[in-house]
Amino acid sequence: MDFNTRLLHGSAVKKYPEGATVPAVAQVSAFAYDTPEQLEKVFNNRAPGYAYSRIGNPTVDAFEQRICELEGGTAAVACSSGMAAITAALMNILQEGDEVIAGSGLFGGTIDLFGDLESFGIKTKFVNHITVEEIAPLITEKTKAVFGEVIGNPGLDVADIRPAADFVHERGIPLLLDSTTATPYLVQPLQLGADIVIHSSSKYINGGGNAISGVIVDGGSFLWDVEKYPRMAEYQKFGAFAYTAKLRSGIWRNMGGCLAPVNAFLNIVGMETLGLRMERICSNAHKLAGALSQFEGVTVNYPALPDSPYKEITDRQLGGRGGGIITMRTGSKEKAYRLMNRLKYACNATNIGDIRTLVIHPASTIYAHSTPERRQAAGVYEDTVRISVGIEDANDLICDFTEALRA
Ligand SMILES: *Cc1c(COP(=O)(O)O)cnc(C)c1O
Repeated sequence: MDFNTRLLHGSAVKKYPEGATVPAVAQVSAFAYDTPEQLEKVFNNRAPGYAYSRIGNPTVDAFEQRICELEGGTAAVACSSGMAAITAALMNILQEGDEVIAGSGLFGGTIDLFGDLESFGIKTKFVNHITVEEIAPLITEKTKAVFGEVIGNPGLDVADIRPAADFVHERGIPLLLDSTTATPYLVQPLQLGADIVIHSSSKYINGGGNAISGVIVDGGSFLWDVEKYPRMAEYQKFGAFAYTAKLRSGIWRNMGGCLAPVNAFLNIVGMETLGLRMERICSNAHKLAGALSQFEGVTVNYPALPDSPYKEITDRQLGGRGGGIITMRTGSKEKAYRLMNRLKYACNATNIGDIRTLVIHPASTIYAHSTPERRQAAGVYEDTVRISVGIEDANDLICDFTEALRA
């Protein structure tokens, strides 16, 4: 099955009661059983079933299974937000004294999270790009995870997954990738050697901009060395499910960042059109980036443009599709704001992956808490505008942006 067929007919798409084509919203907190013996069995994983929606819920399960199939993972765990997913994915394997190596062009919230983890004795070293050359000198005995984004938001640098994964695996370290901006439509990082894939499913997966959520997908092939990861020892018996078993019975369940059933439902409905939307969004973004790059005085950053340093890796790894985000330098903050104020269709909103085109001035919003160095490393300048391209007609978007630029 190809991507769009798999979205609708894959093995994760089950037969639902009464022939319903999408699962019902199991909008309940707890599940009742006839006897305390039955509940005991369910509670202790000795019988299938649900006990409490923080720990498991049929609608959330259905969403997890669909994402897991699309990414080709062994298991998926849904969370209340992308940030909850990133936090749980990292805390599942890190402890005091550990170090992480992370990319720079990352989502601002993720960079802030690495700052928060310092209070727990977890230190992060940043590289400009997730490449063997940049990671190699920073690896120490204490390095327990390498974290990056497949396409950085807002940096738009593209990670070359296979060589980075091979290199860190030789050193017993897993590669965790946030694939929010790429989506499984562009690439399935687990197939290229990544170990854990994380999404803010609030974005392209949901697609309609109507629910916050996140998900962690486990590739299941990383071999956890119990000397390096002592807390993984008791989960070794779960084999390919060791990471997920630890997550489900530990930090994920206890932190409480579970996905609401109705949000899982909205994600399932949304993700059935992921392929169609991404095809349109990538095509629109490519055309718009091309048109904008014709203008004097603006610099356009889009990975699929011929002059992008990531053009080659975009062609090789992402099938030439550059995703839905464009960043553009306009010359000054004033010019950026003047442009944004003239746009007819683009909403000023701090989100990406919506069907609507959105714009934001990152330096004064999502990157407002960052140091100038961090901003620069993420390609965020005073004059940068980030565009999250929607599914409007390409000609209308091009007219809107080019008229605003001319004015
Ligand atoms: C939005 C985003 C996040 C955070 O997700 P939330 O759902 O907003 O918590 C993480 N990573 C990337 C790349 C994002 O775009």
